[in-house]
Amino acid sequence: MEDSRSQIIRQKIFEWLSIKVKQYDDVLPYKELFEGFELDGQRIPLLGPKGIFKPAVIKYFPLSITTSPNSLYDDKIDEQYLHYRYRGKNPNHPDNVQLKEAIKHKVPLAYFHGIVKGKYLVHFPVYIEHADDANLVFRVSADTYSNIIWQKMNVSHAHDIVVDEVRREYVTREVVTRMHQRSFREKVLHAYREHCAFCRLKHPELLDAAHIIPDSSGGEPTVKNGISLCKIHHAAFDKNILGINDSYIIEVRKDILEEVDGPMLKYGLQNLHFKKMVLPTKTEYQPDRNFIRRRFEEFIKAS
Ligand SMILES: [Zn+2]
Repeated sequence: MEDSRSQIIRQKIFEWLSIKVKQYDDVLPYKELFEGFELDGQRIPLLGPKGIFKPAVIKYFPLSITTSPNSLYDDKIDEQYLHYRYRGKNPNHPDNVQLKEAIKHKVPLAYFHGIVKGKYLVHFPVYIEHADDANLVFRVSADTYSNIIWQKMNVSHAHDIVVDEVRREYVTREVVTRMHQRSFREKVLHAYREHCAFCRLKHPELLDAAHIIPDSSGGEPTVKNGISLCKIHHAAFDKNILGINDSYIIEVRKDILEEVDGPMLKYGLQNLHFKKMVLPTKTEYQPDRNFIRRRFEEFIKAS
């Protein structure tokens, strides 16, 4: 069981983190996590150079597990669970042993999932559920902040283990879905340097990652199937008011071109006709031409 001083520090870190998560809408810059927060004049970082991290002020159990955005290993997120790789190949490395101990003591941890360089999707608490020495992988489940069980409370509260398990399964699935969505959004916006590909607006809070082939038609959440668009152009693209031909030229639907109205219609939509969309500089991030062609057929049908 964790000593009470370490547990109090862990609680304070989580309180601080819950404020930051709201402030940044779940995706925190590396700087915030690395600089951490101050407790009694001392700076406490929340992550370190290795994936499994414990700040010096906490005695034994790790505080966080981190997946680097350019990790060679896949800390794969499948449909049901989060998986986290052991440190190195030795199951008895102290970091691995401490995480295994955290299973028995139900120690709540924070999970930092690197999406793009310098940006981490944060979820806490997470719990290590199972350690698989043969495959060198931990199974991790997620829970809601309001349901953290601190060990002292365990003694007086008889918790319904089945209720906890069912809730955690549900929360974990939600976290997995959110990780996919956020990861798609951040990667697409990053590829377009946080600009709308149609009008160059560069306010991230007004930008979406639009699917070229929609989710519902089997479109994959990959950068090549995404375009960074402002809210209005995202909606216009989804409704086939705007289309993109296979030379990456924007076309405006005929009825919209003929309409007469105020400046929003004129500058926001009509003026885009036959303008070239902004493309990511890296060719591997540019929209897949097959997806663009398939999508353009829909636009033509709607015209
Ligand atoms: Zn726009």
